[in-house]
Amino acid sequence: MSKITKEDKKFARDGLTLAKVLYFLLMPFRPNLLKTYMAVGSFVEVPIEQLKIDGIKGILIDADGTLGPHHSSEFSYEVVEHINKMVNHGFKVAIYTNASEDRFHQFVGINVVTNVPPKPDKCGFEKAMKNFLDLDDSNVVCMIGDNFLTDGGARLAGMHFIHICPIKGDESFIHSFTRNIAFKVAQFYFPNSFP
Ligand SMILES: [Mg+2]
Repeated sequence: MSKITKEDKKFARDGLTLAKVLYFLLMPFRPNLLKTYMAVGSFVEVPIEQLKIDGIKGILIDADGTLGPHHSSEFSYEVVEHINKMVNHGFKVAIYTNASEDRFHQFVGINVVTNVPPKPDKCGFEKAMKNFLDLDDSNVVCMIGDNFLTDGGARLAGMHFIHICPIKGDESFIHSFTRNIAFKVAQFYFPNSFP
């Protein structure tokens, strides 16, 4: 597992970055960025066999609100097993979070993306794919997350996006406010996409 380095802390990861603000403003005018490959209720509902059929080879996974509540350092057995199942099916898997804490020890052998720009920066997704999944084709990569504003940036890099319903928890006001607005815009353009 990758260690969090000083270099990594240079990036203001979890706050309002310029990339986030620009993406937020751009989003309503580029519905293509809000297109989901699929939307499911929770992470463990992501259908692994279907991903395989569709030719997906790499999976990037958000942590907060996706694998557990915000700041969680303990994850359910089902979540851990679902990631293990992905690996056993031959997928390349990495956790890509904007939070910088090192708290994913339960996921043995799973890379945690570090030293890349925070989501939704396109460059962050590209580096995550190359350096942590060892892949160079964004068409075969999907990002799984609860936030169109951050995780949805995968669309800028040409990846697929799987939206899951956020797990409630100790999320900052600005984070949940902007996440909700982004979700509403996605719902407006694609009303039939969500469970
Ligand atoms: Mg999240």
